[in-house]
Amino acid sequence: MKITFWGVRGSIPVCGKEFIKYGGSTTCVEVSQENFSPIVIDSGTGIRDIGKKYVKERVKKINMLFTHQHWDHVLGFPFFLPVYENVEINVMGCSYSTDDVREIIAKTMQPPGFPVKFEEIEAKFTFSSVCMDGCDIGNIKVYPIEISHPNGGLGYRFEHKGKKFVFLTDNELGYSHYGSRKYEEYVDFCYGADLLVHDADYTEKEYVLRKTWGHSTWQMALKLAIDSKAKQLGLFHHNQDRTDKEIDKIESECRKAAKGKVKVFACAQRQTIDL
Ligand SMILES: [Zn+2]
Ligand SMILES: [Zn+2]
Repeated sequence: MKITFWGVRGSIPVCGKEFIKYGGSTTCVEVSQENFSPIVIDSGTGIRDIGKKYVKERVKKINMLFTHQHWDHVLGFPFFLPVYENVEINVMGCSYSTDDVREIIAKTMQPPGFPVKFEEIEAKFTFSSVCMDGCDIGNIKVYPIEISHPNGGLGYRFEHKGKKFVFLTDNELGYSHYGSRKYEEYVDFCYGADLLVHDADYTEKEYVLRKTWGHSTWQMALKLAIDSKAKQLGLFHHNQDRTDKEIDKIESECRKAAKGKVKVFACAQRQTIDL
């Protein structure tokens, strides 16, 4: 299984010379497997680049999963080129949203906010809810878990050929939001992950002022990675104000604190990891 980050930024897309290394696009992650259509998680602004690639490579079938419906995770949808092509898109959603998954994406193309209506686009959509007991997408087994976040949402574990990838963004480990799980349940869910990608939006100093806003510190993400014996930790959902230099600094502090118990890196746009 191959994991590619097309957008790693939290809250709002950013641009400028201080954001080149890690990128400014918001959440979009691709999970691909041999001989099967790709899985795209969330349609933050990073989805624009992956859409161009799919059209160029004539990809005709795409699976989409959503973590939740906050703007930074859906606002790239109208700019995902395959939706204007003769492509089949299977969308799976999160049961914790107030809207069903069709509504989540249709809302991004609603007048007067956007000139083309969702009903008018060419791609053929099928919609389904994620089965909480897990479901198969090709040869990948997908298991969801409720995140600790305002308005709820889901994180996912992907299992393929004995490898585990866990994606938990917008998950506040320092506060229990409605519908969230106990810390021990997150540890169980991530246990033995080959790669855990977790929200690490805040520093400890920032968290004091932002508690209950739905995000974790890098220290919380590291603790979860160590407690669950994950092999690698990818720091994700970089704060919109965090420059490349500052992310480098967090990455090196986190590596130091990990004391070799887990391999740590800060996720960067267009980075691919082979599991
Ligand atoms: Zn977010
Ligand atoms: Zn969110």
